[in-house]
Amino acid sequence: MSSENIQQKTAPTAIQPANQGIANIAPYQTGKPIDELKRELGLDNIVKLASNENPLGCSPLATKAVHDELLEVGRYPDGSGYKLKAKIAETFDVDMTQVTLGNGSNDILELVARTFVSPNDSVIYSQHAFAVYALATQAVGATGIEVPAKDYGHDLAAMAKAVRADTRVIFLANPNNPTGTWFAESEFTAFMQAVPSRVLVVLDEAYVEYFPEYFNSIKFLDQYSNLLISRTFSKAYGLASLRVGFALAAPEITDLINRVRQPFNVNSFALAAATAALGDHDFLNQTRTLNYDGMAQLEVGCTALGLSWIPSRANFISICLNTDVQRQGIKVFQDLLKIGVIVRPIAGYGMPEYIRVSIGTFEENKRFLEALAQVLQAA
Ligand SMILES: *Cc1c(COP(=O)(O)O)cnc(C)c1O
Repeated sequence: MSSENIQQKTAPTAIQPANQGIANIAPYQTGKPIDELKRELGLDNIVKLASNENPLGCSPLATKAVHDELLEVGRYPDGSGYKLKAKIAETFDVDMTQVTLGNGSNDILELVARTFVSPNDSVIYSQHAFAVYALATQAVGATGIEVPAKDYGHDLAAMAKAVRADTRVIFLANPNNPTGTWFAESEFTAFMQAVPSRVLVVLDEAYVEYFPEYFNSIKFLDQYSNLLISRTFSKAYGLASLRVGFALAAPEITDLINRVRQPFNVNSFALAAATAALGDHDFLNQTRTLNYDGMAQLEVGCTALGLSWIPSRANFISICLNTDVQRQGIKVFQDLLKIGVIVRPIAGYGMPEYIRVSIGTFEENKRFLEALAQVLQAA
């Protein structure tokens, strides 16, 4: 290729300034992929506990459904996602007109912002809350109001008080990522009663399947027409790579969001796998049991190392490294990486003294605890 061609390819044309808000966005930091670390270190045996993935993979029914779809690659997916929506409606006892499908629940969160929030509006979320709330808010040029957390969890009373005349949406994560903190039904009810019904409340339940006994959000849909529940197949269902999530809300809200949704936002593998996965209760039970045991294993291990953690109702825990050294989380993350264990530093969430660790298999958890002991001893 001549240098002239390269010149043409790389020379920027006069690009218009980005939309208001976009230029200030710090991109979402994803977990380091296993293959990347393998290449960098020449290590083979890598343990990744960084993205809250399901260590069991996914339901065999989902794998089979994906296989069966392979011959149809040339066809567009069902843009209405009829079968999956019907299955979701049946499973959660809602109407199909209340279901929106997303390319991951991340898509749902962005669709909400694009549907309901304009540059002159404000959006409320908690300190230490899932990063996408701030990103989706900035992307539409709106003002984000970050309400200080209470013991790392959402301060729902303060969040309700933070509502302004221009507030359109409040994002809640229950449990929250990266803290694992949760709130009770009674707190949520008080919150919903305090929030004006013109404000849409997005209840992000990406981890609800891990401890479903504590909070039944579905029943609140009948009570509050300004509630949207967001769920995902990425975590407990183990379909992270396929990208599929969904929202449940009043038909009027669902109708508006679906006007913004890309017609084929969920691909046919994701549709088929999610439909199959929803029916596999055995897999979900295995997932819960493994998570429950793994959580206990990590807690025992942390206690032995003299470390504290934030109690979690998700598939990860955030561990406090109990030290004066600033940015210790990043240092420990880097030291763990060098010996083939990937976790997540969460300094970007205002928690520099913590690392977030996804719960893995017994062997993965063991390897992590041994590596952590080694790293802390050397420090
Ligand atoms: C992982 C996660 C999501 C999004 O996951 P998707 O893969 O986009 O469905 C949403 N909310 C929270 C709190 C999460 O941790």
